[in-house]
Amino acid sequence: MPVGTAGTVKGIRFEELESPDLDARIILGNTYHLWLRPGIDVIKAAGGLHKFIGWDRAMLTDSGGFQVWSLGALRKITEEGTEFRSHVDGSLCFLSPEISMEVQAVLGAEIAMAFDECAPGEATHEEARRSMELTLRWARRSKEAFEKAGRDAGEPQAGMPAIQRQALFGIIQGASHLDLRRESLERTVEIDFDGYAIGGLSVGEEKHLMMEVIQEIAPRMPADKPRYLMGVGTPEDLIEAVARGVDMFDCVLPTRNGRNGQAFTSRGKLNIKNARYTTDEKPLDEACHCSVCRRHSRAFIRHLYQSGEMVASILLTHHNLAFFLDTMKRVRQAIRSDQFANFRREYTEQLNSGLES
Ligand SMILES: [Zn+2]
Repeated sequence: MPVGTAGTVKGIRFEELESPDLDARIILGNTYHLWLRPGIDVIKAAGGLHKFIGWDRAMLTDSGGFQVWSLGALRKITEEGTEFRSHVDGSLCFLSPEISMEVQAVLGAEIAMAFDECAPGEATHEEARRSMELTLRWARRSKEAFEKAGRDAGEPQAGMPAIQRQALFGIIQGASHLDLRRESLERTVEIDFDGYAIGGLSVGEEKHLMMEVIQEIAPRMPADKPRYLMGVGTPEDLIEAVARGVDMFDCVLPTRNGRNGQAFTSRGKLNIKNARYTTDEKPLDEACHCSVCRRHSRAFIRHLYQSGEMVASILLTHHNLAFFLDTMKRVRQAIRSDQFANFRREYTEQLNSGLES
């Protein structure tokens, strides 16, 4: 899922996201950002987030928990919820499972997320346990509030299959402690959600710890429900997580790094600021079929970037999203034709082969 923080995926138009080049079927919206600005009344008046932004395809909204968590010192967590200062105007705000569910019901994405608390990557066992227990209590409250919001809207949410209503996913926490992760999984599944997410990774823990958690948890997640790894990751992370059973991802890397001059390619990362590309007439990625690679050279994109032309960010974002989405398309094809092991080996070998100069 490309990340659309403020109701837009940065640096790219919806037409491009829908084009055969990218064909993004689902994007992510950030509840925290949209709640603070433009505010829920504006989105409600427009008839929900799809109508407000002009996107008919699927969306997932996060709960706001992670964004508030990432404010660090600006927040205070209690049993009831999280108090924090708005990054927009400094005003005091309060977010709880009930408020998050209410806001997400108005946003109206196909998939809503339970309100959770995220322990830092290096959290001790005791800290991670406390945080996990709080997340479980908030998960129960999220589900109750979600069902109530559905009833208030006249939808018998609980009895309907997820495909006909908003779906709610639960989030597994427990930092890097595998016993806590297993317990979190078991007790979150008991609450019964439409899908499950592994949260709290890629938050400063070492890379090998992230893979250990995925290795331990992903194969144990219910096989008949979507398995979502939140906020991850690089192309190699995606392939390795899929190999362990993950289905869904979201990450800002393709868009954010694109704006910073970095292209992801089938042979690794390319920094367009590098002087070696000044007269390089090759496309960003010779193996890529996106409209940017069909049309423009590294030399031209480097020139645009160095000149501060905004289209440099737009072209790099387009290519990066095309590369990530194409990777996932090839993953799906490989799984369907029972060729994933071969695909994983070839893809990884090529990624590590490096860019020829
Ligand atoms: Zn491309």
